[in-house]
Amino acid sequence: MTRHTDDGETDEATETDTEDVDGSKSKTPVPGVPEAGRDEQPSIFVPDDGEVSDETTSPERPATDGGVESATGGSDSAELDPDAYDPVDVFPGGDLDLREGADSCYKCTSCDTSCPVAEVDEEFPGPKFQGPEQWRLKRKEDHDIDESITSCSNCMRCDDACPSSVPLSQMHNEARGQFVEEQMEKLSREYIRNRILSNYRFFASIASRVPRLANAVAKIPGAMTLGEKVLGIAGEREFPEFATQTFREWWRERGGAQVDNPDKRVAYFHGCYSNYNTPEVGKAMVRVYEHFGYEVMVPPQKCSGTPMFANGMLKDARRHAETNVENLVAAIGEGADVIASCTSCSLSLRQEYPELFDIHGIEDVSEHTFEALEYLRIHEDLETELAGTELADEQSFAYHAPCHARNQGLSRQAVETFRDVEGVEMEDVGDSCSGISGTYGWKEEKYEKSMEIGAEMFEHMEDAEGDVGMTECPTCAMQMEHGTGYEIKHPLQLLEDTVA
Ligand code: SF4
Ligand code: SF4
Repeated sequence: MTRHTDDGETDEATETDTEDVDGSKSKTPVPGVPEAGRDEQPSIFVPDDGEVSDETTSPERPATDGGVESATGGSDSAELDPDAYDPVDVFPGGDLDLREGADSCYKCTSCDTSCPVAEVDEEFPGPKFQGPEQWRLKRKEDHDIDESITSCSNCMRCDDACPSSVPLSQMHNEARGQFVEEQMEKLSREYIRNRILSNYRFFASIASRVPRLANAVAKIPGAMTLGEKVLGIAGEREFPEFATQTFREWWRERGGAQVDNPDKRVAYFHGCYSNYNTPEVGKAMVRVYEHFGYEVMVPPQKCSGTPMFANGMLKDARRHAETNVENLVAAIGEGADVIASCTSCSLSLRQEYPELFDIHGIEDVSEHTFEALEYLRIHEDLETELAGTELADEQSFAYHAPCHARNQGLSRQAVETFRDVEGVEMEDVGDSCSGISGTYGWKEEKYEKSMEIGAEMFEHMEDAEGDVGMTECPTCAMQMEHGTGYEIKHPLQLLEDTVA
């Protein structure tokens, strides 16, 4: 059996790997193993022009199916013949043109009334201004981007609210990127803080080499206060614990995939948090998917870019996206669909990537990406599988649907999946935003607003039966735990308990 490990030993393998400074692996690729192309590189120390030295790329990569190399160097599948692609010209003439979207706005203000930040921050002018209005203003040569764009948390609820399909979050991302690039002081405390928060993956990869030490340092009294004073990171937050074994280390140790099935393949995009902090979510995903007969692939990957979009760090996001697209296209060429256990990662790959970047193969990645539970509900008869299952011990969950799950039409999926399982009580705690929105609630000046936004969710969680929360988003989970003290689980962990 071919074991599809990403970076460890394989049954057929001669692959070797050494871990680089950011936790990435330098490797000699193995024929038949789909994780081709450039692996992870240190991110925030790469020059801003996005140039990557030759030493940090994988110079040689054997074809995986005898086809031709794609322009990204990722897939060489015949189905993904580069000649079959139309280049994605998202930036015609080198400038993102969203005039059509701006003209579709008929000023109904539905977006403004759905914006959680505008509700608690009277200085924030709301999505209509940030989107169509600012877009029109900045077409004038002498008009700068309004600084208030940095207060948008990128929750993307306004996208969902707009009846006229105005590409609001795309406009916000683009404006924020332009503001950071052209108007933000690069030596300011705010810029440095935001860059650190955006590049969580880089710091997590270092901390996870010495997880016990990193966890102990984070718990030293006054450590978070110091972080607030020096960097402006909210001192009230508790730093997430690093796992003593990352998901990728576990994957390597178990020898990769235990199921070989070319007809049912998925490439797992675990994201940063499931790798460094909650590998139990990734493990649950693997066990559940193998239970259903899927061959799981774990391609090399970097951050999905979600925190970078929210902080206007588009050059960082693009660098990460290039690696992700290259490696995911290779997996798609091997017959896999892409699944993510984090709803922000799946939204990023599906929506933000093709909206913001013109990377070869990006549309394929977008079309082949699904959230992990969503994919199972589409392709497996989960209802029959779960009928008659019973948890040994009754459990009640307070479920919160992340904003980014709502954007993908997934707000009810956990409740619907588990409603007939004996011993499971699942209560939806309403449609409010958790308030943390990735890095937003980690900023000193946003912390109080973040907690104000989350108050409704905390209240509903307290009212719900049981004291275990459930959500698909790792930062919503942080906020739920922070606001209530509840233990928080991912739906895949419950699915593992019920079927696998
Ligand atoms: S993305 Fe969220 S915070 Fe930003 S303008 Fe839209 S609704 Fe408001
Ligand atoms: S919801 Fe859409 S159409 Fe209505 S004001 Fe906002 S952007 Fe314009």
